[in-house]
Order: sequence, then C-alpha cells, then structure tokens
Amino acid sequence: MQSSEKSQKITAATPKDAAAVILLKQGTDASDPEVYWVRRSHKLAFLGGFHAFPGGQLDESDRETPVENCDDAERAAMIACAARELFEELGVLATRGAQTLTVGQRASLLDDLESRRMTWPELLKHYGLQLDVEDWTFVGRWVTPPFSPRRFDTWFFMTRCPAKQEPRVTGDAELEAGEWIRASEAVARWQRSEVLTVPPVLHALKTISRGLTEDLVERFLYVPQAHGQPVRRIEFRPGFICFPVRTETKPPATHTNCYIVGSREVVIIDPASIYEEEQQALAECVDELRAEGRIIREIILTHLHPDHVGGVQALKEHLWGRVPVAAHRLTAKALEGQVSVDRLIEDGEMIDLAGEPHLRLRAMHTPGHARGHLCFYEEATGALITGDNIVGLGSVLIDPPEGNMRDYLESLERMRALPNLTVLFGAHGPAVGSPRVKIDEYIRHRLEREENILRAVRGGASTPKEIVERVYTDVHPKAHAMAERAVLAHLEKLETDNLVTRTDNGQWKAST
Ligand SMILES: [Zn+2]
Repeated sequence: MQSSEKSQKITAATPKDAAAVILLKQGTDASDPEVYWVRRSHKLAFLGGFHAFPGGQLDESDRETPVENCDDAERAAMIACAARELFEELGVLATRGAQTLTVGQRASLLDDLESRRMTWPELLKHYGLQLDVEDWTFVGRWVTPPFSPRRFDTWFFMTRCPAKQEPRVTGDAELEAGEWIRASEAVARWQRSEVLTVPPVLHALKTISRGLTEDLVERFLYVPQAHGQPVRRIEFRPGFICFPVRTETKPPATHTNCYIVGSREVVIIDPASIYEEEQQALAECVDELRAEGRIIREIILTHLHPDHVGGVQALKEHLWGRVPVAAHRLTAKALEGQVSVDRLIEDGEMIDLAGEPHLRLRAMHTPGHARGHLCFYEEATGALITGDNIVGLGSVLIDPPEGNMRDYLESLERMRALPNLTVLFGAHGPAVGSPRVKIDEYIRHRLEREENILRAVRGGASTPKEIVERVYTDVHPKAHAMAERAVLAHLEKLETDNLVTRTDNGQWKAST
C-alpha cells in the first residue's frame, strides 16, 4: 500500500493543455469526408514518424484571445490555441474576415506571428479577424497515457478549411508531410499497418469515415476516453495492443508496457505489475479481448527483471493456470523458484498467431541488457517488440554481470539489420515510428561513451568512479552510481577488445 502511494505521486504530473484540429476539406463528400493529416518528423523523440492532426500546446496569449459567442473562458482559450496552431503549422487561417486577405498577406501575417512581432490576439485585432465558436466543433478531450514522457490533455476541434486556402506543412521542423485523405482510406492504411497513429486520431478517423451524420458529435463523444479518462488499451497497429501498467521501474519511466499481440490467437508479453489494481486492470482488458473472441495462447517474458515479470503469477491464476508461460532458457533458469516457466523459446523460433492480420513473431535472442533477453519481430508488418533493449523513454542500463556491452552492441546491430523495420515497441514509453534513427542513435551514443571512457583511462582515470566524474558530466550526480555500472560494462568490453586491462588491485589501465 505504502509503495503504491509513493509511486502514485511520481506519476501524478499534471498534463499540459493542448489543442488539435481535425480539418475537413471545403465541400467534401459528407458520406466519406476528406481530412488533412500530417506526418510527424522521424527525428522527433516523441511520436516521431506518427500520423497526426495539426495541434500543439496552449500559449498564454491564447487565454487573452477573444472568441465570439463563447461564454466559456476555457473553451475559448482552447479554440484560440487550435486556430493558432492550425495557422502556424499549415498556414490555414480559419477566422472570419480572412477571406479578403491575399495569399501574400496571409504569409506576412504568419511571419508577424512566428517572429513574435505580434501576439495572436494582437494580430487578430490588428487585421480585423474574428474567431467564432460556431466554426469550431468540440469533439473530445483526450489525455495521453501515463507512459508518455510528455503528458497532454488535448482538446479536439473539427473545423472546415476556409475556401481558397490550401493547407501545407509550413517548413515547421516538427512535421515532414501532410495530405488530404478520405477518412476511410486513412483507416484502411492503418489496418494495412502502413501508418502509426495514436488512439484519438484513429478514433476520429473511424468516426468521420462513417460520414458527417447528425449524430457525428455524439459518436465522437461516445467513448469515455473522449472525456479525459486515460486511455489504457492502445492499439498502435492492428493486432499490437500496448497496455502500460504501473511498475517500480527505473525513472523517468513509471510504467512498463505489456503487449498483447495477435488478432485472434494472442500472446501476452510481460505482464509486469506487482500492484493488485494494475493486475486487475490488465485482467479486465484480457477478459474484454476474450469476449471479443480472442484466444490467449501464451504468456511470454522478454527477460528476468522484476518490472517485467511482476504480474505473471496473478495473470496465470486469472486464466485458471491454463495458459503456459514461455521464456528463454536463461531467463527460466534465473527465475527458478520465483516464476515457473512452462516452455522455452530459442532464437529463431516462429510464433504463429492465426487471425486477421495473421501475425508471425520471430523470437530473437538478444542478450546485452539481460542474458536471456528476447525480442520479437513480425516480418510482414516490420514491427519489433524490443523489451528493454530499446525503449521509448529513458535509457537502457547495462549492468554487469547480467549486462554485457559487447553482446548489447551486437544485439543492436542485429536489430538494425532487420529488413523492413517500421516500428519499435519498447517496454517503456511510446512506440518508436523511426526505428533506424533510434537504433543509430543508441549505437552512436554507446560508441561515443566508449571512446570517452578509453580516453579517460588513457588519461589516468583508473576506477569507474573516476571515469564517471570525467566522462558523465551531463549526468546528474544522483545517477552516478548507475553510471558506474555502465562504465564497468564498457571497461569489460574494452578489455575483450584488448584496449584496457584490469590490474591485480581491481583498477583499470590502458593496454600498452
Ligand atoms: Zn530490464
């Protein structure tokens, strides 16, 4: 109970206010409307490569921006935010009075705003433009799941693109592309695993694809998540459900992602939480899936760490002990006496999951973070479940003797070499839509550290502590003890590379 309260506090960061715009094409077919969606830059750490709607965080000036016919100050501020973001990101000025402006004038207004010569309310006033509540249909408020490095409470508004204005990505570094697309086609592309989106975007596309009917808003607001209730079950890709559960993991992460993979036959990877209420939530999700006709085939463990196996026993009991637990033999051995593993998974094994889409997971033994670590690759869709080898939030600890830097770098190279890699599903944080960028960054980061560590040893530093003080200047002193473990892992690798040697008194020196 006590520890549960403690971790509750850590996760209770207040989400920031944000707004997003579902832009409908002028004169679009009401039975299958076209919307404008954007692709976030592959370089972004947060939801890089995802398809989304334009939007962003509330600016203080949005609160001072008048909105006609709106007596709710909060809603007015969010509409102002939505309209400003739409203008900044796509150059679309959805205000009354904008129809008399030329393309050139709009560009100069945008420049005024972006160069901060004028604030948003000043600009509207100066050019006689008005925002009107009538133009902005509120269609829900979604809060990002607690696994997210940044948490947002996002208000979604639908508006029509004004006549004679054409949206385009304005060179904003955050977005790399944008296009009009029929909502039904966008949903189909998601179903074909060609794109990644977050739950509110998928929900919006599905809702709109059924037409601009009279009950449209009702259909938008039908789900509890559209009223700020946190999303728990996140289907980033068809057949890949991410269900973050609260665990005692390494900060800044507060949750571990449990993945439920398969469209009919499913496996549950890393039921992680030791907390009863979290185990209960996962059990409810599993029951829901069973009610939808899915068959639970197996519980799979990526590796031995407590923040990955904490809820195995509870889930097994919930499923009347009938669902076997599978893991690599090294994991099974390490967990002896704590978790009983019924079946062993070796490198290269194919786990065939019948259903539509039919998913085939190839097990990859990828040691480095843990000796018996497994990743799972779905070749047809290019999805890789990475466990703790690559995460969407925080860093990966390589802690000897369980951790091994040489193995880890080899595992990263193996993952990098996979054909058709499109998304990484890590055990912490959101999915990574730009896998190669992420893996390259991981490899570069480790090699840079290695080089600096070698330089420090050559410069006379002889213990991990001394090395950390010289090399990890970017890391908070509180994290130094952990950094020393990573340094040891690097030193052991450098030792096998014959670049450093361990002296009799346990110190390190450069090889001659
Ligand atoms: Zn781990």
